Amino acid sequence: SINSGQCKEMILYIADKIIESEPYLTEIDSKIGDGDHGTGMKRGFSAVKKELPAYMPKDPEDVLKETGTILLDSMGGASGVLFGTVFISGITKRRSKGTLNLNDFAEIFRTSLTSLKQRGKASVGDKTMVDAYEPAVIALEKAVQEGKTLVHGFSEAAKAAQDGVQYTKTVKARFGRAKYFGGKAIGLQDAGATSIWIIFRSMSEWIS
Ligand code: ADP
Ligand code: MG
Ligand code: MG
Repeated sequence: SINSGQCKEMILYIADKIIESEPYLTEIDSKIGDGDHGTGMKRGFSAVKKELPAYMPKDPEDVLKETGTILLDSMGGASGVLFGTVFISGITKRRSKGTLNLNDFAEIFRTSLTSLKQRGKASVGDKTMVDAYEPAVIALEKAVQEGKTLVHGFSEAAKAAQDGVQYTKTVKARFGRAKYFGGKAIGLQDAGATSIWIIFRSMSEWIS
């Protein structure tokens, strides 16, 4: 399990990886959207890098919630709300034990996935971030069932998210600007799903 200091370190590692990926995310969203996803994510995670180090969390849950709040405030727009939701919604009404284990992460992200789907109305197959996020959550839950370690769970979640990104290439979009691409969206991956994959891949890299 990880404590609040480690959770902060992990988020700052994710922030570096998202910022590094800005050109890649921009390229993806330029092909099938308005090209602003990379800059939006970079703006959000640059704000996290700037503000999170001085934040004194009581529990690791506070770190996730603060991260989501910073994203929400700095990214703006629809995806600010969506990525804010990923980090915030699983935390509300949770009582912390002071550390987070694999089961805690599975519970937190399952709750936030449910909120994300309620908010955005997207399901798996709509070519959105849900296509990467839902399989990642399922992989975490499976690892919990099998009594695996946090290292193993994060690694499986990263792989599942990556497969989810590949899957987005095979479907048409039902949300966002990509919807207007119709069948021309086939073969192209979703930007938000790619960001979800980068987040889980970074968590896995950081923990191992
Ligand atoms: P915008 O579409 O406003 O330009 P971004 O480019 O930052 O915002 O983010 C686009 C991403 O947001 C998409 O690639 C998709 O993954 C995600 N997205 C868009 N609409 C929804 C939705 N209704 N539910 C879930 N995710 C969505
Ligand atoms: Mg966009
Ligand atoms: Mg936009």
